[in-house]
Amino acid sequence: MSRSKSYPLLQKPTKNWVLKTGVVSIVFFLVLVLMVWNTSALRRALVHSTEDYARDMSYQLASDISSRFKSYQRSLHLLSNSFSQNSKIEDVPSYLQEQAEILGFDALALVSSEGVTIPSEYAYWDFEKIPGVQSSFQGEHSVTYDEDQCLLFSAPVGTYNAQDWALVGLHHKENVQEVIRPKNFGGHGLTCIIDSRSTVVISPTDSKPFLQLDGIFQSQTDSKTKSALVSMKENLENQRAGTFQFTAVDNRQLILSYQMLGVNDWFLLSLIPADMISGEANTYIFYSFLIVGGIICVSFLFLYGMAQIYRSNQRQLEQIAFTDPLTGGSNLASFQLQYQDLASQMDPNTHTLVYLNVKGFKLINENFGVQEGDNILKHIYHALMSNIRPYELATRANTDQFFLCLREHTLEGVQARLDAMTKAINTFSLYTNIHHYLTLQEGACLIDDPELNIVILQARARAACNHQTQPDICSFYNGEIMQRMNREQELIALFETSLENRDFQVYLQPKVRLCDGKLGGAEALVRWFHPERGMIYPSEFIPLFEKSDRICRLDLYVFEEVCRLLHGWMEDGKQLLPISVNLSRAHFRVPNFLQPFSSLKEKYGIPDGILEIELTESIIFDDQQRGWVNNFIREMHQLGFLCSLDDFGVGYSSLALLKDLDVDTIKLDRRFFEDLDSVKAQNVVASFVELADNLAIHTVAEGIESQDQVDFLRRIHCDMIQGYVFSTPLPIPEFEAWALLHSQEV
Ligand code: C2E
Ligand code: CA
Ligand code: CA
Repeated sequence: MSRSKSYPLLQKPTKNWVLKTGVVSIVFFLVLVLMVWNTSALRRALVHSTEDYARDMSYQLASDISSRFKSYQRSLHLLSNSFSQNSKIEDVPSYLQEQAEILGFDALALVSSEGVTIPSEYAYWDFEKIPGVQSSFQGEHSVTYDEDQCLLFSAPVGTYNAQDWALVGLHHKENVQEVIRPKNFGGHGLTCIIDSRSTVVISPTDSKPFLQLDGIFQSQTDSKTKSALVSMKENLENQRAGTFQFTAVDNRQLILSYQMLGVNDWFLLSLIPADMISGEANTYIFYSFLIVGGIICVSFLFLYGMAQIYRSNQRQLEQIAFTDPLTGGSNLASFQLQYQDLASQMDPNTHTLVYLNVKGFKLINENFGVQEGDNILKHIYHALMSNIRPYELATRANTDQFFLCLREHTLEGVQARLDAMTKAINTFSLYTNIHHYLTLQEGACLIDDPELNIVILQARARAACNHQTQPDICSFYNGEIMQRMNREQELIALFETSLENRDFQVYLQPKVRLCDGKLGGAEALVRWFHPERGMIYPSEFIPLFEKSDRICRLDLYVFEEVCRLLHGWMEDGKQLLPISVNLSRAHFRVPNFLQPFSSLKEKYGIPDGILEIELTESIIFDDQQRGWVNNFIREMHQLGFLCSLDDFGVGYSSLALLKDLDVDTIKLDRRFFEDLDSVKAQNVVASFVELADNLAIHTVAEGIESQDQVDFLRRIHCDMIQGYVFSTPLPIPEFEAWALLHSQEV
């Protein structure tokens, strides 16, 4: 989880994509269902028309056969009449042969009830024993299919020489088969003649189905076919025609049609394959299925291809969106997504979110170049990653800021891990020529609610970091920090209206000259009197407003208040007193920032040398900047401002600054005077004052609270003192009163 470059968006197809695939699949499925429905309707229509066709054809064939048989019967009848009317036919055998050819019989014979057969060559037939012929002796016409498989037509001739005579016309089996063999049905149909008991009388072939017609139906389990067979039996008995469809033993669909022949109780039975007509259509239906199937497959392939392209593009975009181009690792967006995944399986109070800020990284960039800076950042990232365990995360959020999600829940556990990381980070000097110890500002926040938005956790870890008290010691987010954060938010919200309502007031703190004990000047210090929140001290809001441009607007406000006061004094004819104002380092971010100050000075007509600007050495980051800041100091002088260096002695390079910056005054920080009991401390302060004096720089001692301190400072010739020993910062009317009271020596 921690090391793999996973992009959660890629792992889960988006709902949108699933929806689209679902819709396309449903459309394809509907098309397929429609095809199947349409095809089955087509097939049903085809089956019906096949049934109609089969019935018509079989009826037609039955009519043909019936009329043929009847024509044979008629011819035989006429011929038998000719015999009965003309008994003197000379040569009967040749006459019969001649008539057989004319009438289309294979043979004709005169047969007597006593077994005489003319021509005698047919005597072996024993025609007189055939029941049909016997009935003709009784005067009836008959048609018989005899055991020798000949179709016999017989007609009564009369009684001669005490014998009953009948005329017999016969057709050989092959010729009869030829007659009943269907010419239609494309050679696929089969016909036979059956009687009303379903017994096959004349079969068109010797093939099995027609010899064993019952066998066709033997294995019929299908109830529909069974009932069709029952009604066929009834129909046959009642001399009714019928047609039905069934599945044969070989699973073929057959249409069975039986039509009355009008001869004996005979029926013409036709068996026609149901697919005879629909057969070709089936092929085309199959082809259309293939085509639609093919289209669906091609469409699927096309969509799949498109999806692949889309996904590869998406992957590339996500690669760009979720990768930190510098380290090649996951960026903040990816970290946040991965955190969501991790948090979904996280128990409360098991993980800690850590914010790391590399202290003074700007110096590295400026001293060693951006390329080296980048290399160090990469090294830091990899050092963090190599200390990351499963189910932990790390990312570079901003230039020199990192976030970690550690599987630790105790202060000691987190600190031990961060110490190991700091150690790994500081191995970078092994790979570079840079000998510099990197200090991390560390803030952490225990994840007590994994459902909490990561952005809130990040803000908490950052806030904890901002309240870090010791370097390399991680500061943990707690209730106090939360209160402070809330308070800060509240102050930010109140700022705008307070500035408009003039809730900010300027206090003045006197600076007393040590040479004559008189008031030598004052420092303007802002106070915030909120109508509901009461008095708010600068220590609470100045560092907060320094994070934005609010401080610049506030400084300008204070500056204008001071100008207005001085202008008033000028108008009242009072003697002007140098007043210093504090200028935040935030101004140095704005080009030409001195312009509005100068305009206000002009506007209120304040003479040169009265307004003093206090700068802190925190505005200077490196040697190059000294020159840059000095340019501003020069410009201040040109504009008629004095310039002092505030909080002198707190930073590390105060002494060097004295040499480079053309300030008029240094304000010795009150921490200088906290331990004036030791001779060493006294010597250090005395040396500073002497050095400043040698450089023609005035000295102001700040935060002086005791007379001892005053005495000491007088001894070492410090110029002025600002401190509670004389006065706290005062509201303007009180300051004016104080000034009046102390216009003489203090
Ligand atoms: P700073 O410029 O060093 O101002 C001196 C601070 O020391 C003032 O605190 C003052 O009240 C306090 N102080 C003076 N004498 C004594 C003393 O004998 N003992 C002690 N313990 N403290 C003494 P304050 O007014 O609370 O201001 C705090 C800081 O806020 C200032 O430090 C300054 O950096 C900033 N600040 C105040 N007003 C402004 C402003 O208008 N603009 C800007 N940018 N910063 C301001
Ligand atoms: Ca100051
Ligand atoms: Ca100060």
